[in-house]
Amino acid sequence: MVKPTVAIVGRPNVGKSTIFNRIVGERISIVEDIPGVTRDRIYSSAEWLTHDFNIIDTGGIDIGDEPFIEQIRQQAEIAIEEADVIIFLVNGREGVTAADEEVAKILYKTKKPVVLAVNKIDNPEMRADIFDFYALGFGEPFPISGSHGLGLGDLLDEAAKHFPKFETDEYPEDVIKFSLIGRPNVGKSSLVNALLGEERVIVSDIAGTTRDAIDSMYVYDGQEYVIIDTAGMRKKGKVYESTEKYSVLRALRAIERSDVVLVVLNAEEGIIEQDKKIAGYAHEAGRAVIIVVNKWDAIEKDEKTMKEFEEKIRDHFQFLDYAPIVFLSAKTKKRVHTLLPVINMASENHAMRVQTTILNDIIMDAVAMNPTPTDNGRRLKIYYATQVAVKPPAFVVFVNDPELMHFSYERFLVNRIRDAFGFEGTPIRIYARERK
Ligand code: GDP
Ligand code: GDP
Repeated sequence: MVKPTVAIVGRPNVGKSTIFNRIVGERISIVEDIPGVTRDRIYSSAEWLTHDFNIIDTGGIDIGDEPFIEQIRQQAEIAIEEADVIIFLVNGREGVTAADEEVAKILYKTKKPVVLAVNKIDNPEMRADIFDFYALGFGEPFPISGSHGLGLGDLLDEAAKHFPKFETDEYPEDVIKFSLIGRPNVGKSSLVNALLGEERVIVSDIAGTTRDAIDSMYVYDGQEYVIIDTAGMRKKGKVYESTEKYSVLRALRAIERSDVVLVVLNAEEGIIEQDKKIAGYAHEAGRAVIIVVNKWDAIEKDEKTMKEFEEKIRDHFQFLDYAPIVFLSAKTKKRVHTLLPVINMASENHAMRVQTTILNDIIMDAVAMNPTPTDNGRRLKIYYATQVAVKPPAFVVFVNDPELMHFSYERFLVNRIRDAFGFEGTPIRIYARERK
């Protein structure tokens, strides 16, 4: 299911990031501990009552050295490009400013729905202050308070009225959708070309060169694949697309549309922090992940090099212990043929369902082998387990008290399940629930 996307725009200091954080809430993030992953988050999935959507804080997209007014203009353009519904945020304590009018001017050009929200209306007496904002020409302003969490429900209900109806997925279920993510210049476009066997994507020597955004569909050995457009393959001619946060945003959008994500590394440069950050998002999104080490032709090797590189990867990407590693060269095409079988395998495991009886045998064996933890004399009791989802596979374990399920024991169970069923290439999730 494709989720609608909401973008928040507005000049600095009106409260965009406050609202963003309110809406996203204290979501428990699996990768919270990985440095850099969630520190400056500008994009997240969110749930509000029955609405399920993605949200972008365009204020967090740093446009570099451009003048202030140019920055907010470009942020508004990104919102128009990326969002299904735009929340135009203004500050109720300052009235309409010239910068608000600049944002409005950009937003007049879009056909996408714009909902006007007046922030910092911290108490009902202040509601009279919102009427000036009718002048912006976006209809009824919605009074909200980010600090106090007021009015957000009404605002999001209004936004949700404009959500497009996504009846079906974009591509048939049996098509394997994958994307290539990684820093500029690691060789994503070259690898796409090597896979497609023709120069359908422009390859360039210059980091950050913009390219046409297209999904490429192809068939190999009877299996259909779609390569989802990523940050490395962007539209031409816009300044903001070279900004790092925007390319991360595009990568996140690609991850979301994918079953399998190829995290592409450059063998020549080794692993850097940004690689981890990007991979962290793929993991957190619950996609199947494959680590691809490209430019393997370009380095001096002996018989130990691959093993050493692999150890380095395992050390840096501990949260991706399930991800297979493929070494190849997009340039010489060496080992490129080994990639598709790994993609097939990861995709299959990502969608795998296991039999409940076998699952429970595995869990009971695991418990017999390694007794459940205790806390204050109370012992965790596991009654039974069942698989509740695929893509990624998720299991609910019914217990006497979920609090007693420690992280380390959960990890042990995950490993037992992996040993028994494989699941190579895909994250798997376990939730402890109290048996009623
Ligand atoms: P951004 O630059 O648009 O992302 O704005 P921020 O979210 O960083 O907020 C700017 C300032 O406004 C911060 O000091 C916030 O604490 C404050 N602020 C945000 N929302 C509210 C609100 O509803 N009421 C009041 N009084 N202050 C707010
Ligand atoms: P992207 O920005 O990640 O899409 O990277 P590109 O595909 O544009 O490649 C960046 C540069 O790396 C280009 O000069 C490519 O020719 C070069 N390149 C890509 N793959 C390989 C490879 O396997 N080996 C070597 N030596 N160079 C490569």
